[in-house]
Parts: sequence; structure tokens; C-alpha cells
Amino acid sequence: MWKKSSLLLLCLPLLAEKFERVEPHMGTLFRITVDAPNVGVAHAAFDAAFARVHELDEILSDYKPQSELMRLSTRPVRISRDLFLVLEASQRLAEQTNGAFDITMGPVIQLWRKARRDKMLPSNEAIAEALNRTGHRKLILEAATQTAHLTQSGMQLDVGGIAKGYAADEALRILRNRGLPNALVAASGDLTIGRSPMAIAVEPVAGFRRRLTLSDHAVSTSGDTEQFLEIDGKRYSHIIDPSTGQALTTRIGVTIVAPQGITADSLATAICVMGPRRGREFLKQQRGISALIVVDGKLEAATGLFARE
Ligand code: ADP
Ligand code: MG
Repeated sequence: MWKKSSLLLLCLPLLAEKFERVEPHMGTLFRITVDAPNVGVAHAAFDAAFARVHELDEILSDYKPQSELMRLSTRPVRISRDLFLVLEASQRLAEQTNGAFDITMGPVIQLWRKARRDKMLPSNEAIAEALNRTGHRKLILEAATQTAHLTQSGMQLDVGGIAKGYAADEALRILRNRGLPNALVAASGDLTIGRSPMAIAVEPVAGFRRRLTLSDHAVSTSGDTEQFLEIDGKRYSHIIDPSTGQALTTRIGVTIVAPQGITADSLATAICVMGPRRGREFLKQQRGISALIVVDGKLEAATGLFARE
């Protein structure tokens, strides 16, 4: 008679194994986990998925002066499908959130990046000057011609609040197209999950943890934790309130579950800016979105999948 263990062993060659690769991209580590029939298939898939992430970084980075994003100017130019898609999604969210999500905040974000390096707050004058060169209505997209331009010189776009989510979506799509739908792509706070259900833990703020099992969805967390500047006991986030040009100082953490990474990533950033009250109002109008909002260690909202626990 067969023993259970030998039966299992016999089946193993037919089953997929789990493989994982980690690479640095977009200023963070991307970790891809995939079920594949063998190591050769897995490595070819990793090569293709990471090549796609690299390609997107070349287009979307604001650290690379030659990226397609950085080459935008006041002259309308035809742009790639990827850049158009990210700019269009960003502009849609800017309209929906009354400018809380705003990728034209580049000049102000630069000031706050310098502030984090120098451990010194930017002056009000510098913020006011930088704010003059922002405003989402000053980025013009023409769908018919797939062109983009800025209406003012000295502007700078920053898609740091949406690009990783899109890149994670695209990495997963590459794996799916290669017949490997059971996968997970994780880019620090941005995750996209393929067909097979995965148990994950989310932590909108340190110490506040929730577990859930997801498939074919994306999860993003923004806010509180990793990048900040601390001066006189006050914590300045890397997320900026476009209405003032100031870095957020509220201790807010937001986790969003959405069908796509591009949506989850940008919404998590946007709701940090909107805060719990405006955030909750906004979420009421959204379909298929689940949110966890924690402020000062207190749960402010748990909607959708998070409400069922
Ligand atoms: P992380 O980069 O840690 O995943 P987020 O997804 O929340 O965090 O993105 C934060 C980044 O988004 C910032 O580093 C900056 O590049 C950009 N950003 C900051 N404030 C805003 C804003 N109000 N709207 C859009 N993007 C923003
Ligand atoms: Mg984000």
C-alpha cells in the first residue's frame, strides 16, 4: 500500500514550486514570488518582469534627468502609452480629490527632500515660490494625439505616489502572460497579488496589524512610517498637502485594497492628505475599494473587506 508521504512525492514533479527574486528598482526593493514548473521557467519570467519594471523606471523616474517624465516641457510632445496612462490616472484622481493628489507638486517635494537631507525645514518663502510652479490644471493631456505639455516653465512632475503601484501591476501582467498567474509582486508598501489566494498582513501604522487573504487584488500602505524628517519632536512626512505646500504632520496611516495597484497606491497617498473625515466621504463614492485609516493609533475607518472582520 502507498504511504501518504510517497504519494505526495510522486505528485511533486507535476506541481509548481515557489520561486522568489528580489531586485532594487524605483528607489526600493521589488520582491517577486511566483509558482513555476521549474527554475528555468521561473528565471526567464523574473528576467522579463524585472525588465518591465526597469523600463517603467526609465520612463517615470524623477531622479533620472533623461526620463520621459523629466523631458516634458511647455511644448506639446507625443508620449509613450505608459506615461500617458500614469499621467491620465493621476489627473483623474487630482480632479476627484480636489487636488489632494497632485503630481505637479515636484518643486515642493524637492524642497522637502532637501529638508530631510539637511535636517532643516524649508522657509515659508521657498515653499511659496515653489507652490507658484505647481497646480494640476497646468498639466495638459490630449487623448486624441496622446500628447502632454506643461503650461508654465519651472514645473516638475513627481509620480512617486503612483508609479510603484503601476509597475507592480505590469510585473504581474508579464507573469500572467507567460502562463504564471500565481504570483505576488511587492514593492515596499505596494503589493499586487495574482490568482492564487495569499494570506497577508497589513500595518497602516506600526503596531496596528490586520490580516487578510486576497487574490487578484492590490494592497498599498502610505503614511506614517518610513520616510520622514523629525525636528523639535515633530514628524514631517514625505507626503505633502498641496493646499499649503507643507509636509503632513498628522500621524496617519492608510491601507487600501483595490483591483489594481495603480489605484491602491495613488488612493493611499491621496487619503493621507485628505485625512479621515474627507477620506471617508470620498470612499463612500468609490466602488470595489477597501480602506483602513488609522490616526494617532486610533482606527478611524475600516471599510469594505476590512469592515467584515
Ligand atoms: P511610498 O513612496 O513610501 O510608497 P506613497 O505611495 O504615499 O509612499 O508616495 C509618497 C510619494 O508621493 C512622495 O515621496 C512624493 O514623491 C509623492 N507625493 C507626496 N505628496 C503627494 C501628493 N499630495 N500627491 C501626489 N504625490 C505626492
Ligand atoms: Mg502611494
